[in-house]
Amino acid sequence: MQAWIIGNWKQNPATIHDVNALLDDLLTTMNATEQANTAFTARCQLMLAPSFIHLTTVSARLKGTSALCAAQDISAHSATVGAYTGDCSAQQIADAGATWTILGHSERRQYHQESHDKLLQKVTHALTQDLGVVFCIGETQAQYDAQQTLEVIDSQLSVIRDLLAQQPKLIDSLSTRLIIAYEPVWAIGTGKVPTVAEVSATHQHIKQSVAGFAKSLSAITVLYGGSVNADNADSFAADSMIDGALVGGASLKAESFLAIANAFSRANT
Ligand code: PEP
Repeated sequence: MQAWIIGNWKQNPATIHDVNALLDDLLTTMNATEQANTAFTARCQLMLAPSFIHLTTVSARLKGTSALCAAQDISAHSATVGAYTGDCSAQQIADAGATWTILGHSERRQYHQESHDKLLQKVTHALTQDLGVVFCIGETQAQYDAQQTLEVIDSQLSVIRDLLAQQPKLIDSLSTRLIIAYEPVWAIGTGKVPTVAEVSATHQHIKQSVAGFAKSLSAITVLYGGSVNADNADSFAADSMIDGALVGGASLKAESFLAIANAFSRANT
C-alpha cells in the first residue's frame, strides 16, 4: 500500500517569499529523492497543505510534480458561492488547484467550535466538488488519561457514518477520496507521542469501524499525526496499521519532511 505523507503548514510561513523558499528546498529535495530511489513515488504520496492565501502559488508550483496540494479547511455554509464573509468554498479551493482538503483538525475543533453537523456539511461540500478529504480525529489528554480514546474516536467517526446514511451514492467516491488521520490532541506540537502499539491498536479499531460503515471502505488509509519527526518516523513506518503521517512542525523543513517520507518508503519495500 502506498504511504501518504501530508504536510500541514498551518498558519506558516509568514510571507510569500518564505513560501517560495520552502518550495525551492522541497522540490530540490524531492527531485534528489526520486532520482536516488526510483520506487519512491510508487511507495509514497506526498501532499502539502498551505494556508488559503498561498494555495494558488503552491498548487501552481506542484503542477507536473508527483506531490498534491490540499487546503486546511473549507466553508461549511456553501460548496460554491454566497454571502459568507471570510469563508472559502470547496469550489474555490478546487479552482485554486487543490485536490484535497483537511477537515476536522483539532485546532479547528478547538478554536472554531467545529461540531458534528458543521463537519458533516463540510465533508459533503468537499465530495460534491470532487475534493478528497483528510478527516482528523483524536482524543484530548484528559480523555486519554480517562481511557476514553476509542469512545471519542467512535463519536467523531459518526460524521462519516451519518454521511453514508444520508447520501449512500457517495460510497463509491469515498473509497478513493477519504483518508482518516488519527491525531491525539496531546501529541500535536508537544513532542509527546503515544507508543507505536497504542497507535496500531487505535488504527485497527478505526479501520474496523469504517469498514463497518461500508465494505468498500475496508482498505481505508489511516495516518498517524502528532509530533512525527525524522527520529521517530521509522518506528511508526514499521507498523503495518500506520499508512503514513500527517506532519505539522517537521513539514516546514524540506530535510525533515523528506526524511519522514523516506522512512515510510523504506518500510514499504
Ligand atoms: C498537526 O498539526 O496536524 C500535527 C501533526 O502537528 P505536529 O506534527 O507539529 O505535532
